[in-house]
Amino acid sequence: MRGLLPLLCRSLKSAAAAGSLGLRGLCCSAVSGEDGAGTKSNTQPPFGFLFDIDGVLVRGKTPIPAARKAFQKLLNSQGQFLVPVVFVTNAGNCLRQKKADQLSHLLGVPISQDQVIMSHSPLRMFKRYHDKCVLASGQGPLLDIAKQLGFRQLITVDRLREIYPLLDMVDHDRRPKALHAPAVELPKIEAIVLFGEPVRWETNLQLIIDVLLTNGHPGNPYSQSSYPHMPVLACNMDLMWLAEAHSPRFGHGTFMVCLENIYKKITDKELRYEALIGKPSEVTYHYAEYLIRTQAAAKQWKKPIRTLYAIGDNLMTDIYGANLYNRYLEESARRGSKARLQAKAAGGTGSTAVSQEDDIDNPWESELASPAAASCRSVLVCTGVSSPHTEVPSDIRETITKTVFHGHRDFRFDPALVEPDHVVSDVDAAVDLIFQLENFTPDENHRTP
Ligand SMILES: [Mg+2]
Repeated sequence: MRGLLPLLCRSLKSAAAAGSLGLRGLCCSAVSGEDGAGTKSNTQPPFGFLFDIDGVLVRGKTPIPAARKAFQKLLNSQGQFLVPVVFVTNAGNCLRQKKADQLSHLLGVPISQDQVIMSHSPLRMFKRYHDKCVLASGQGPLLDIAKQLGFRQLITVDRLREIYPLLDMVDHDRRPKALHAPAVELPKIEAIVLFGEPVRWETNLQLIIDVLLTNGHPGNPYSQSSYPHMPVLACNMDLMWLAEAHSPRFGHGTFMVCLENIYKKITDKELRYEALIGKPSEVTYHYAEYLIRTQAAAKQWKKPIRTLYAIGDNLMTDIYGANLYNRYLEESARRGSKARLQAKAAGGTGSTAVSQEDDIDNPWESELASPAAASCRSVLVCTGVSSPHTEVPSDIRETITKTVFHGHRDFRFDPALVEPDHVVSDVDAAVDLIFQLENFTPDENHRTP
């Protein structure tokens, strides 16, 4: 995969010269005229942006120069966005407001926390767990993050370790000096949420396994009847990530590989996830679409948001996720028409049939309105993980097929899902391309000078 991008970027240049940048075809939707309110309808976008952050807007703590240029095009002279914009990152060790403040500073434009989706953000839709006693694994301000998401009975691994000091025995220096019974009786732990990679992996692996194998009573012996185990929800499946070092670093996905394999080795059964959250899972894109629709509604834009453009630098997360959501939208449309047909035959409206079918497939869908976009287009930039300075392969398809799949165990590798709809050099070129595809010409008087 390391060699795939240069070839695509090279072909981009010739395609750009010819005025056609699409790899899988273009989706142009001309808009013009006026709506009932007398507002020029070509200033009301029927599309929205999903921006990845690392490798697209920033590299480490340094802004990518094209980002500031791109965002000047997205604002009017009053500093308001001309198009719905959300930032979708698999980062998760801080609050949304902190990430929004960082972005505002880096990009020089006002970003609200309502525009930021972190890996854990969709957990606010999983309300059935908010009142249960939940074990949280991760680092950073976990309690604050969980409280903002709606969790009311969260217990961290560190707190669990304090209550049951005999459980964590790997580090001899952290073993208890004296033996005593737990001073606090915990309620049964009913679910586990893996927010992100912890600091002390051995402690978290041990205590999570203990909770799973004791049906939520880690002070008890392991139980034979603990399978199927309690619900486990995991955010951010990235196996590795790119920092300042030459080679990628372990991500939360690596921690999950450890947990899954330890559980399998001990029980000879598979660790199951109630939900996998963060890119590339559909729930994250569904939530992003919901926030984009909310932004458009707040501006009283009447045109429905038909196309989402997901701009990222990582084939396995950004491109795979956007393409997967595109399939989900197509499938939802197919199921919607099927349900409407069934309802018509039964004399109903069809809405109930759709809702029931969706509830069975994805419990979180009932928390949001049904997806309304027609498509989600993937746009790859060459400023991050996918760099134009790597080796050029002789055969793109062969390169994709032979790539070691770093996606999560529960996500099937499909070469079509890592093929971007468009490839551009940077985020500024991506904005230009999308405005061109959408024939979007905001009133020049309203553009940032
Ligand atoms: Mg990235």
